[in-house]
Amino acid sequence: MLNAGSSSLKFAVVDPQTGAQPLSGIGESLGNNKPSVSWRYRDARGERALEAGAAHGAVLGFLVGELITNMAARDLQLVAVGHRVVHGGEYFSHSVLIDTSTVEAIEACSALAPLHNPAGLLGIRAATEAFPQLPQVAVFDTAFHQTLPDYAYLYALPHHLYSEHGIRRYGMHGTSYRFVCERAAKLIGRPLEEVNIIAAHLGNGASVAAIKGGISVDTSMGMTPMEGLVMGTRCGDVDPGILIHLAESLHYAPAEINRLLNRESGLLGISELSNDCRALVEAALDGHRGAELALALFCYRLAKYIAAYAVPLRRIDALVFTGGIGENSVYVRAKVLEWLGGFGYLLDEENNRRIRAGAEGRITRADSSLALVIPTNEEWIIARDALQLIESRE
Ligand code: ADP
Repeated sequence: MLNAGSSSLKFAVVDPQTGAQPLSGIGESLGNNKPSVSWRYRDARGERALEAGAAHGAVLGFLVGELITNMAARDLQLVAVGHRVVHGGEYFSHSVLIDTSTVEAIEACSALAPLHNPAGLLGIRAATEAFPQLPQVAVFDTAFHQTLPDYAYLYALPHHLYSEHGIRRYGMHGTSYRFVCERAAKLIGRPLEEVNIIAAHLGNGASVAAIKGGISVDTSMGMTPMEGLVMGTRCGDVDPGILIHLAESLHYAPAEINRLLNRESGLLGISELSNDCRALVEAALDGHRGAELALALFCYRLAKYIAAYAVPLRRIDALVFTGGIGENSVYVRAKVLEWLGGFGYLLDEENNRRIRAGAEGRITRADSSLALVIPTNEEWIIARDALQLIESRE
């Protein structure tokens, strides 16, 4: 599994049957002065500096040349490479085997995800060279949400902006949602087709989705990953009139507006302290007013979205928390459920404190609506999709 960012490349060898990752690692600061790669193979760990300017290809060269050939060749049998690709536009509602037309379609979606899709293509090109004998599969963050009805995915803008330019809501984190809703159905003990779930993926980027019988019917991210919830450094929903005011009255250039909304807002912007939820919780408990306020905005916005998704779902069988914050933050989960008291959510404080660091389970009382914590595993979904696609080809 490869997950390429513009200056990073995460890799993992994933067993599609169990989700286990015998080998994993990340190349960072790629293309910069001091790129490096760190890795874990079973119980061993290591880190290696790469040559200045080394990029994605160098990380894969190291992966193939040193890690796989020297250490793991007899142990691991590679059958395919699965790539995480952020934006599949309206081209992809499922994962696909990569060929020339797939690459062209991913390129065509780059206008919608200028930071993410070109990075995904770097990963695909480097992997095609490093593993010429292996089939390559693309798994899209947006694909799961292609089932949204038009009244949920359209903006109330002139319709030609959609029909001519693809301006609509696409949503992200689909791979994570697929994993957690399958797992939630198992924990509830009913077929996925019969359960209605609201899932919140809360990491540096954060979103929430309404999933009816395994099908996404609404989600908070939009054409880009900026819409919706308060995030680490992204603002989420704002009045679009603010952008006009920034440009016309305060003379911000488009690039400055982009930086403001993407990198300087969210938890960081409000707290004036950090974008990191854990650091903010510690500061808030020490009485830092900015940290308290940032967390208050985060939790209130999330609770409002969850309540709104009662509209498409009518009956909510489970509320699921996942992602770094969802899986770990006792504070955020407690605050969100407090807001949702009117919907029958009653926190089980002891379970909430106990469930963190990779654990899964229920955080509401027996006499309450059901809220679960489920650690996500996007890599497993990518590996499973890759295996399924190559098997169906054979
Ligand atoms: P990404 O979106 O980059 O994959 P993650 O899913 O790893 O991010 O989530 C990162 C977020 O999770 C950070 O805000 C981090 O502070 C938060 N987080 C991790 N552990 C904890 C914790 N124990 N308490 C609160 N927040 C935590």
